[in-house]
Amino acid sequence: MRAFKIPFIKPSLPSSAQIARDFDEIVESNWFTNFGPKERQFRSALEDFLGQGLRVETFANGTLALLAAVYSVFGRGESDRFLLMPSFTFAAVPQAAIWNGYKPWFIDIDPVTWQADPKFARDILEADRNQIAGIVLPNAAGVGSPHIAEWEQLGWEFDLPIVIDSAAGFGSRYEDGQYLGARGSCEIFSFHATKPFAIGEGGALASRDERIVNSAHEFQNFGFNSLRLCGQLGINGKLAEINAAIGLRQLVDLDRRLSSRRQTLGRYRSELGVLGLTFQPNAEESANQCANLCCTSPVQKKAVLESLLEHGVEARDYYNPPLHLHPYFLAYRHLPTTTDLPTTEDVSSRIVSLPIHENMRADDIDLVIEAVKAGAVS
Ligand SMILES: *Cc1c(COP(=O)(O)O)cnc(C)c1O
Repeated sequence: MRAFKIPFIKPSLPSSAQIARDFDEIVESNWFTNFGPKERQFRSALEDFLGQGLRVETFANGTLALLAAVYSVFGRGESDRFLLMPSFTFAAVPQAAIWNGYKPWFIDIDPVTWQADPKFARDILEADRNQIAGIVLPNAAGVGSPHIAEWEQLGWEFDLPIVIDSAAGFGSRYEDGQYLGARGSCEIFSFHATKPFAIGEGGALASRDERIVNSAHEFQNFGFNSLRLCGQLGINGKLAEINAAIGLRQLVDLDRRLSSRRQTLGRYRSELGVLGLTFQPNAEESANQCANLCCTSPVQKKAVLESLLEHGVEARDYYNPPLHLHPYFLAYRHLPTTTDLPTTEDVSSRIVSLPIHENMRADDIDLVIEAVKAGAVS
């Protein structure tokens, strides 16, 4: 593997001494997983952090939280019904639909916010409501969608529940200032090492709906009900005690950690926005896994990525290629119902994702800015 001066992801984790102390406690309690003391404490700490009357279930990872959410909200798909979702997101979204027996129906995004655009869902629903079982709405790149109220209105009008994937957005806020977690039927989060709230592997589901939370709980425990009898579909999705312990430590000063990430985004925006490069609206209120910027053309994007590489900066281009162009999902393009996705293809061809670390050094930020500038004007 190539060594970069500035890696794309650099999680700040607790010290090995702290983790060793937690592990000693876990061994002492002789309780390693299955909703032990650390998991229960972490779960209630997450509820305290999010507020808004939410209940939380923890999971082994965000994908299992999403599988549980889709199952608990829409039930298992029986035939040929679809879940609406954008193609401009991470592969776990259509995978969770397919695991639950649904087909993904990819819709296009808004050119300014890069978020799934409700007007495309409305067109489909007005033409044929019956094929659609629900909506899986990602908050693109963990940024709270400015279209959220419009989506909820659409869901209400067509009597369609919405599962929200806020994987990278724990600690992000919607435009009304509230933390992500309380919209739609439920929201899910990922605590993967690459996300701003990183514990290694972990995830959570948040909802005010007791039925959904209870079903998600049973889902992650083999479908067992309180009598330890299988009453529904399930899997093993439980969060281990050591991961919960790491999560507890990471949560303590999360707001400070996220504000340090926002400062880095602010520097990128003020220095690079002048070149005609655009950033995602509402990212300034987000947890900022990375800084996504949109170049003016695919040619400029290629030059920026090359310049970053030359300067020893590891960068990405989320989410390129978009999901409807991946081999496994390509099959869903041939369905008679699939529409073209020009904005998705355009935006994803121009995105550059820049590293953001917690407490990123000023000279590292300068180097990233210099590399982007050199590529952008070349
Ligand atoms: C990261 C991510 C996931 C998956 O989370 P894991 O914890 O890695 O399983 C799901 N959806 C989106 C949009 C993501 O960014």
